[in-house]
Amino acid sequence: MNLIFLGAPGAGKGTQAEVVSDTLGIPQISTGNMLREAVKNGTEYGLKAKEAMDAGALVSDEIVIGILKDRIAQDDCQKGFILDGFPRTVPQAEALDAMGVKIDKVVEIFVPDDTIKKRVSGRRVCQGCGASYHVEYKPTKVEGVCDKCGDKTVVRKDDQPEVVLDRLATYHEKTAPLRDYYEKQGKLVTVEGQEEVADTSKLTLSAVGAV
Ligand code: ADP
Ligand code: ZN
Repeated sequence: MNLIFLGAPGAGKGTQAEVVSDTLGIPQISTGNMLREAVKNGTEYGLKAKEAMDAGALVSDEIVIGILKDRIAQDDCQKGFILDGFPRTVPQAEALDAMGVKIDKVVEIFVPDDTIKKRVSGRRVCQGCGASYHVEYKPTKVEGVCDKCGDKTVVRKDDQPEVVLDRLATYHEKTAPLRDYYEKQGKLVTVEGQEEVADTSKLTLSAVGAV
């Protein structure tokens, strides 16, 4: 099964993508995590991506399509995958179609902007492995320490309040049109983000037919 997870920054699409990935045993492919890794390693495209990311803007379609193409060609993706954060623009969706990648469902995790603005300030990310947490909704077992690798969890640079507003604007302008794009293909399912992560997960798993 090939799935796409859509959602505004901080709506919880990554968290839900992870739950579905664990349940179905197919990889979660987060372009945001791949880009942050590239930035950390100072690779050529990491250097190009950094400026856009820090400003809450999108990295160029060319770069992101390139890394995505390489990633889904790997062995572990042959039985299916979950795209988390890709596509984010209509040209990226068109590129996916042009590659002949068949998408079964597009899951939109919907959370109103006001709720998002409150939520992102609590978000934390592991500086080692990139795992995501939230101080209130998805806390680490030990404060400030990643459950998965033991490294330190930090606030993402682009989670600062001013940058979040820019990311939300970018989402509405560039990414939200994908709802129509996939609605027309009959693939869009919308899940309303709930107060409790576990409640959203139940709805998400049922939306993808995993329970
Ligand atoms: P969130 O969904 O919380 O905004 P991500 O981790 O998915 O965060 O992405 C972080 C940043 O990485 C984005 O703001 C953008 O700059 C860049 N990025 C990730 N995926 C894409 C993509 N498909 N196209 C362009 N830029 C991307
Ligand atoms: Zn970690």
